[in-house]
Amino acid sequence: SKKTVAVIFGGQSSEHEVSRTSAVMMLQALDKEKYQVLSVGITKKGQWLIYNGPVEHVKTGEWEKFGTPVSLSPDATKKCFLKIVGGNVKEIPVDVVIPVLHGAWGEDGTIQGLLEMAQIPYVGCGVLASAVSMDKVYTKMIAKAARIPQAKYLWLHKNDLEEKRERILDHAEKKLGYPCFVKPSNAGSSVGISKAKNREQLSAALDFAAGYDRKVIIEEAIDAREFECAVLGNEEPMVSGVGEVLSAAEFYDYDAKYNNSDSRTVIPAEVEEEKTEEMRRIARKIFRAVDGSGLARVDFFIDKKTGRVLFNELNTMPGFTPISMYPMLWVQAGMTETELMDRFIELALKRDSGIR
Ligand code: ATP
Ligand code: MG
Ligand code: MG
Ligand code: MG
Repeated sequence: SKKTVAVIFGGQSSEHEVSRTSAVMMLQALDKEKYQVLSVGITKKGQWLIYNGPVEHVKTGEWEKFGTPVSLSPDATKKCFLKIVGGNVKEIPVDVVIPVLHGAWGEDGTIQGLLEMAQIPYVGCGVLASAVSMDKVYTKMIAKAARIPQAKYLWLHKNDLEEKRERILDHAEKKLGYPCFVKPSNAGSSVGISKAKNREQLSAALDFAAGYDRKVIIEEAIDAREFECAVLGNEEPMVSGVGEVLSAAEFYDYDAKYNNSDSRTVIPAEVEEEKTEEMRRIARKIFRAVDGSGLARVDFFIDKKTGRVLFNELNTMPGFTPISMYPMLWVQAGMTETELMDRFIELALKRDSGIR
C-alpha cells in the first residue's frame, strides 16, 4: 500500500513565503503513484491546517482560506501527530513527514523534536544537527573544533547592547574592522543581515539583527566569490559538485536571492578542480561534525585576495525554489527532482534516531 507522506509548509519564521515556494516544488515532484500526499500548512500566526486544494494556492497564500484546522497530538502508539478537531475527532496516521520549513521552528530542531516524540520518521537532520546548524555561533564553534577555516567573528547577546554597546563596537573595530557583516545568529535567507562600513552603521546593524534573535554575530567581511555544495545521505553521505552564486546586489541579500532576476547561479562552478575538491571535502566534514542526516547545503567563500576557501554556514533545509541551488546541483548530477524526493524518503525511513 502507498505510504502516507505529510508535507509541512509555511511556519512562523521570517522565511514563511520561501517555505511555501519550496513546498510547491516538492509537492509537484513527489510521485503520486507511490505516495499518498497530505499537505499541512502552518500560518504565520502558528495555526496548523490540512490543505488539499490546488498547489497554486500554496504559492499565492490563498490556501489558508481552504484549510481544515488540526491540532497537535503526538502519539507514538498510533504513528500520529495530528488530529482533526471539531465534531468527530479524527487522528491522522502518517508514515513520513517532510518538514519543508526554513528558519525558526522548522530548521532548528523544534519540529524535529515534536516528530521524535511521536516516533514518526522525517526528512532531514535530527534535533541536534538542526539546532547546531541553525545557530551560526554554534556552527562556528563546531567548525573551529573540526579545524575548518572560516571568517573571524565575535558574538553577543541582545541585552549586551544596553550597557556594553560602546565596548562591543570598540572590540569589533579592533578585531574585525570594516566592512563587517552583522547577522542574527538564528535566521536564514539573509533576513536581518547587514553589511556595516562604519561605527554608526555597525551600531544600527546590531539593533536590526537583534530584532530577529537574542544572539547576534559580527563577522569580518570577506571580499569573495560565493559557492554552494549539496550533501545527501546519512552516515556516508554523497556530496554534489559545486555551484557559484553571482549576486546582483552588493551581497546576496533577500531581494537578490528571490526577487532580482539578475542574480545568477553557475553549475558547475568555473573554479579550479583543486578548490572544488576542497569545498566538497569540507562539506562532508562539517556535515559529519554536526551529525547531519538526510540533506544539507553548505555555503562557502573563496577569498579573492588570498584564494583561500572559507566555510560560511550550512542549511539543513535549504530552499527548493525554482532558482535554488540544492535541487539544481542534483539535477546537474543526473537525478530528477522526483528521484531526489524518493531518496529523501528512503533516508528518513533508514535513519536511526538511536533511541528506538
Ligand atoms: P541562507 O540560509 O539563505 O543561505 P543566511 O541568512 O543564513 O542565508 P548567510 O549565508 O550567512 O545568511 O549570509 C547571507 C549572505 O551575506 C551571503 O550569501 C553573502 O553574500 C553575505 N555574507 C555573509 N557573511 C559574509 C562575510 N563574512 N563576508 C562576506 N559576505 C558575507
Ligand atoms: Mg543560512
Ligand atoms: Mg537558510
Ligand atoms: Mg547562506
